[in-house]
Amino acid sequence: MSLDLAALLRDRIRDAPDYPRAGIVFKDINPLLADHVAFAGAVDAIVAHHGRGTIDKVAGIEARGFLLAAPVAYHFGAGVVPVRKKGKLPGPTLDAEYALEYGEAVLEVQADAFAPGERVLVVDDVLATGGTARAAASLIARAGGEVVGVSVLLELLFLDGRARLADLDVHALVQV
Ligand code: AMP
Repeated sequence: MSLDLAALLRDRIRDAPDYPRAGIVFKDINPLLADHVAFAGAVDAIVAHHGRGTIDKVAGIEARGFLLAAPVAYHFGAGVVPVRKKGKLPGPTLDAEYALEYGEAVLEVQADAFAPGERVLVVDDVLATGGTARAAASLIARAGGEVVGVSVLLELLFLDGRARLADLDVHALVQV
């Protein structure tokens, strides 16, 4: 990824202090999504990191992960699978509880979403504590997929989410 693209992406991620609650700095990626050069550059950089033909399914995490997973999957020539918050998918589903930087949640995936051994890339907007990506990876593994990596726009280094994903290729376009 060029230095120019990294600088552009960094510039298009906006801090929202004390959102959704006091003490959290929410990283708002909407300006990046709304800028076609930044958005296309981010999608292309994720695809280039892994290479076309290396991924069978891209798993996008609700909700901002969906916006990235679909174009990434299209450019890989891969399918896209939604990993959703509890209660949004018709069954049978598998679920996993996890803790967030702010709160707790349950993720679900459809039990038949992956053929055995399919290579799966997890995509989300922000890697914070790594709990979400860890839960998604464990769900995908239980559903028969082989998680080959996690790609995010932004990694919050101070939370060391990467440590919880030490067995995976964790790729962040911007680190702060
Ligand atoms: P975590 O499980 O702690 O790695 O949190 C990652 C998930 O929560 C991602 O789906 C993000 O969209 C969201 N998230 C956590 N912290 C932030 C933050 N500071 N700004 C924006 N999104 C966040």
